[in-house]
Amino acid sequence: MIQSDNHVHTSFSSDSSTPPEDMLGRAKALGLSSICFTDHIDYGFPAEKYGNSFLFSMDEYFQKLEGLAAQNPDLNIRIGVELGLKNDILPAARSLTGNYDFDFVIGSTHLVDNIDPYYNEYWEGHGESGGIKHYYEATYENIRQGFDFDVYGHIDYVIRYCPAIKAAGTDSKILESHYAKMLKENREILDEILLALIESGKGIEANTGGFKYMLGHPNPHEDILRRYRSLGGELLSLGSDAHESKHLAYSFTKMPALLKGCGFTHYTEFHKRKPVQVPLA
Ligand SMILES: [Zn+2]
Ligand SMILES: [Zn+2]
Repeated sequence: MIQSDNHVHTSFSSDSSTPPEDMLGRAKALGLSSICFTDHIDYGFPAEKYGNSFLFSMDEYFQKLEGLAAQNPDLNIRIGVELGLKNDILPAARSLTGNYDFDFVIGSTHLVDNIDPYYNEYWEGHGESGGIKHYYEATYENIRQGFDFDVYGHIDYVIRYCPAIKAAGTDSKILESHYAKMLKENREILDEILLALIESGKGIEANTGGFKYMLGHPNPHEDILRRYRSLGGELLSLGSDAHESKHLAYSFTKMPALLKGCGFTHYTEFHKRKPVQVPLA
């Protein structure tokens, strides 16, 4: 039984209205021993275009979560952030992680060329294969830039919004054929991403949001998790990416067997930016 969710959003994130207290109530009801909040900071997000800034006051965030940690000694409450990485925000990102005492920093690609693949505009410009490849190229460039983070978030996030995958709905045969094509076409760049992460001592996450999006797989897909492990990667955090309390620890019951099947014996929690390996029960 996995007792720790390490990718959780609250109303500090522009795309969630869930108070942190609701997440804590749900965490206790589920019997979790720890929860790491990772609200969104996306510097340079085109707020005028998309209507959300994906920014919040970090002082208020720490004040709130430290207060809740003091009031809830029965739960290990950790303070993290999910930092949207892109090529022109390195100084702001460095200053954030240098100035605040985070437990955990997830680096994620949410924007490519300032476009969110959530929107059709991205796919109209690149097509399916081109859009997926371009997303991975942007991820690789982010890793090479030397951002300060602990794990790379949802490496194949772009799949969630690929029009062909969305059109497949829950048809697993069509979904699997798109996955197979994506993995085959991007094998080299995915290897470069995983090797660059391993060489810089950084991990990846298994994000169970993929199950919520009806993909039938975590983000990233098992093949990518397995490849990271076989290349020597050992740091693997586990999170639901919940934006509502009902999605906390979503599909976690599937994960011990799934991760063992990918060659992992442990998953990783971060405390004050230090990895702690926890055996997969
Ligand atoms: Zn994300
Ligand atoms: Zn997230």
